[in-house]
Amino acid sequence: MITKRKISFDIAVLGGGPAGMISAGRAAELGARVVLLEKNDSLGKKLLITGKSRCNFTHYEFDNTKLVEKFGKDGRFLYSALGHFGVSEVLDFFQSRGLLWQVERGNRVFPRDGDARDVLRVLMGYLAGGKVEVLCNSKVNDIEAIKDVPRIFKIIHSGGELFTEKIILSTGGKSYPQTGSSGDGYRWAEKFGHTIINPTPALNPVKVSEKWVKELQGLTLKNVSLQLYQEGKKRDERFGEMLFTHFGISGPIVMDMSKSIDKYLKKGNVKLLLDLKPALDFQKLEERIKRDFQEFKGRIFKNTLSKLLPASLIPVIIQLSDIEEEKRVDYITREERKRLLHLLKELELTPTELLGFPWAMVTSGGVSLREVNPDTMASKKIENLYLAGEILNLDGPSGGYNLLQCWSTGYLAGENAAKKAERVK
Ligand SMILES: Cc1cc2nc3c(=O)[nH]c(=O)nc-3n(C[C@H](O)[C@H](O)[C@H](O)COP(=O)(O)OP(=O)(O)OC[C@H]3O[C@@H](n4cnc5c(N)ncnc54)[C@H](O)[C@@H]3O)c2cc1C
Repeated sequence: MITKRKISFDIAVLGGGPAGMISAGRAAELGARVVLLEKNDSLGKKLLITGKSRCNFTHYEFDNTKLVEKFGKDGRFLYSALGHFGVSEVLDFFQSRGLLWQVERGNRVFPRDGDARDVLRVLMGYLAGGKVEVLCNSKVNDIEAIKDVPRIFKIIHSGGELFTEKIILSTGGKSYPQTGSSGDGYRWAEKFGHTIINPTPALNPVKVSEKWVKELQGLTLKNVSLQLYQEGKKRDERFGEMLFTHFGISGPIVMDMSKSIDKYLKKGNVKLLLDLKPALDFQKLEERIKRDFQEFKGRIFKNTLSKLLPASLIPVIIQLSDIEEEKRVDYITREERKRLLHLLKELELTPTELLGFPWAMVTSGGVSLREVNPDTMASKKIENLYLAGEILNLDGPSGGYNLLQCWSTGYLAGENAAKKAERVK
């Protein structure tokens, strides 16, 4: 039997990422004695690399129905959290603590100075204000639930052990393990009776089999459309910006589509069709090509595409079109023109696999939402355990949705854990 004298904290928050920091801060603000354990030597390692270190910390959308839809069929879980601490509250929270912000393309909200460290500074101030005891370099190795009244937990970590009444589990998912998120929390959630929906990488670059992509490494295409096909049926479609890399493709529309690419790859072969000119249908584009060829009459083919394509894409398209690059455009046949047209509207890419967890921005899967109370973030499996952030089976597209999820669920978890925390003298 553990005596209450040994309990030095009301709440232990495990994991010092966005969800952990805000939940620890909120619980402390309400008067709970809180310890935050983080295995890295500093807090928010992943937070600092978000949005290319500029931190797209929320999406600028105030309609919660639109927000939850972005999380797919499980998004409904977030109604309560967003209703309590949604986009307005998140913006107020940061602004009232000195963070100026701005809305950028696609309703993405960033700190005005474009520095993720400004977001971290607000959170550190919040923790300090509540006198949260922050233990960095403290890897949690195990948790034991001790039957007592009320229940207490023993946390075994690299610096020793401690006892607490409540735990907020915010150890993140498995993506970018180099930042500390290696999925440790799943083990304890499972130990306490939770179901873990198989974690898979999401918002992930995609490998393709076409060797020519290497020649395009670094090329960003804006306003293109990407369609996903399986067995002749269109399964997904995105419009926006993408990027070629040495192994395949990346950039916002690819990352957002990666979850469905992965899903369909598990069932069989998948094709991607890239439309380089989505604003023009086949007929209009053909007319445009004819006009260009007329204008460049007498010139050789390779010198006639500069108005249509970025420079680095021209040699690749010429090679794929099988049209002699030195051929004069006036000698290009109808059939050759059709081939070119087809390449511009339906450039084929064959995904082979996702790049995997080391390069996934988020984890799809995690602790089953059915086993977590959406109004409090409390576990339905074991009393006094709360869960927040990416450890939950929730993932949204790029655009600030994932951090918004962390702020909302984290705040709610901290608040409810604190509300029920009984002071232990
Ligand atoms: C490159 C990149 C860019 C991104 N950009 C954006 C963006 O601009 N906007 C956006 O909304 N989302 C973005 N995301 C997603 C966002 O970063 C995550 O959704 C968010 O960090 C999840 O927060 P979390 O607190 O749940 O988990 P994490 O941030 O993963 O934090 C979990 C913490 O727990 C610690 N931990 C784990 N195990 C233990 C243990 N055993 N003991 C002690 N501590 C432990 C980890 O070290 C880590 O610090 C990006 C992700 C990546 C990888």
